[in-house]
Amino acid sequence: MHEHHSALGLVKARKPILPVTLVRPHAAFRAARFFVEKLPGKSLYAVKANPDPDLLKVLWEAGISHYDVASMGEVRLVAQTLPEATLCFMHPVKATEAIEEAYFVHGVKTFSLDSMAELEKIRRATRGATDLNLLVRLRVSSEHSKLSLATKFGAEPGELPELLMAARQTADALGLCFHVGSQAMSPAAFGDAMERVRAAIVESSVTIDIVDVGGGFPSAYPDLDPPAMESFFQMIHEKFEDLPISYSAELWAEPGRALCAEYSSVLVRVEQRRGNTLYINDGAYGALFDAAHIGWRYPTRLIREEDSEAELVPFRFFGPTCDDMDKMEGPFFLPDDIGPGDYIEIGMLGAYGNAMRTQFNGFTTEEPVRVSDDPMMTLYGPRSEQDEASNVVRL
Ligand SMILES: *Cc1c(COP(=O)(O)O)cnc(C)c1O
Repeated sequence: MHEHHSALGLVKARKPILPVTLVRPHAAFRAARFFVEKLPGKSLYAVKANPDPDLLKVLWEAGISHYDVASMGEVRLVAQTLPEATLCFMHPVKATEAIEEAYFVHGVKTFSLDSMAELEKIRRATRGATDLNLLVRLRVSSEHSKLSLATKFGAEPGELPELLMAARQTADALGLCFHVGSQAMSPAAFGDAMERVRAAIVESSVTIDIVDVGGGFPSAYPDLDPPAMESFFQMIHEKFEDLPISYSAELWAEPGRALCAEYSSVLVRVEQRRGNTLYINDGAYGALFDAAHIGWRYPTRLIREEDSEAELVPFRFFGPTCDDMDKMEGPFFLPDDIGPGDYIEIGMLGAYGNAMRTQFNGFTTEEPVRVSDDPMMTLYGPRSEQDEASNVVRL
């Protein structure tokens, strides 16, 4: 992989025609160390957020030994990339063949479920295995999070006692899990969900060996400034300590976004300007799916050899495809003298950015380039300087 100090170094060395993913292994390493050292439990990386094999290796080096996978493709990818990793199949609705292959070929022992039908499926697919960790997923609210994960999965309180009793019969270790929704903006998201866990345990009076608080840990974005990560850990720790579970029960979490958001940014080129609309060479079918479809804002900065003195003004972006939906409203703040041929670095795209890329309409990227400067924003280092450096204007 080519290496430059920063986006500017790359633009000075050559003028890339296609978008370039800039990766920052040091930033992912720092995030992973933070979780390994400070979360009072085990962190499973949720591979969905960014399945880049180079990233998986960085997380492994940093001490992340467990991986939350949701599909056969993710099982195979992680098994191949990190043969010693422990895989946990945390999708509550799986294909029978996927469970079979995971268990018999890749040694996966941990599965989640939210229904009697899935429990029965897991029993059949593993031919009555007795060495399983089964995690029953509860439905919890997504009210404190930017992206809901509340509608598809999770057993309702009324179904839980029966499901937990039945899972207890099959499981070697029995757990409860949930997902508060992505980009939780308050520790209360976890506090409230842990109350649901407590109620489920009390009502079903089964022995619980694992409590898995799922993902949802936030990252930093221009108008989403979450409280310190420690306050989330503190809330989880307090609630966990308070549960009626055995002294040896384990606490797990499944961070996706929080481990990889700072890992990469994308360098794009402006192809045309019309008023305050910039036509750029990446978009909704590239790394900017969330920017287009849910109006997510990312930090932006002009990358040009001579700095601009112009005032920062709000822009929207049009992506390169011919599709009307390929449009990102932002606003994205950039110097008013920006124009065709200029480059923009769009930050914090390591989570749900590159993972969403398609080749629709023939628009692809160049090979990723490694850079060594700081990510444009961070939850794991000095913050005010970072925000300034990234031209972030708070609305
Ligand atoms: C998506 C997902 C995660 C990761 O969520 P983040 O918000 O990225 O932390 C974790 N667990 C499950 C089951 C998921 O579906």
